[in-house]
Amino acid sequence: MKLDSVLDIIDRPTAWAWICRTYLPDGVVCPVCGHVITGDRALASFVALERTYCTGHKSAFRPLSAIAPLRGTEWAPEEFVKLLMLHLAEQSASDIAALLGKSAGCVRDMLGRLAVLDHKTTTGDRLLDG
Ligand SMILES: [Zn+2]
Repeated sequence: MKLDSVLDIIDRPTAWAWICRTYLPDGVVCPVCGHVITGDRALASFVALERTYCTGHKSAFRPLSAIAPLRGTEWAPEEFVKLLMLHLAEQSASDIAALLGKSAGCVRDMLGRLAVLDHKTTTGDRLLDG
């Protein structure tokens, strides 16, 4: 099976759902104030990847900023999941960059973020279980 044909089946909603399950197992937590988001409209905005209003600090935040490795980056959810899969398949940073249409530096930056977080989480195992 070719890797790029597997990558094609990863769409944004599926990737975002997996990311939320993996990184926010206890629900949506505001990255600014730590408030747990419970409102139906706010949660719907979050799932739709639209700015989400937090009643805790009375302002909105970007959903991607609630996910530690994605905070402050321009990575789309599906690109992030594809990177994880390619990394688990032991592809090099330059090969991953070529497959995703990103720079090798950008890929190395994200792999570095994940290496730091791996001390706290088992992202790879969760990807395989998920
Ligand atoms: Zn907040």
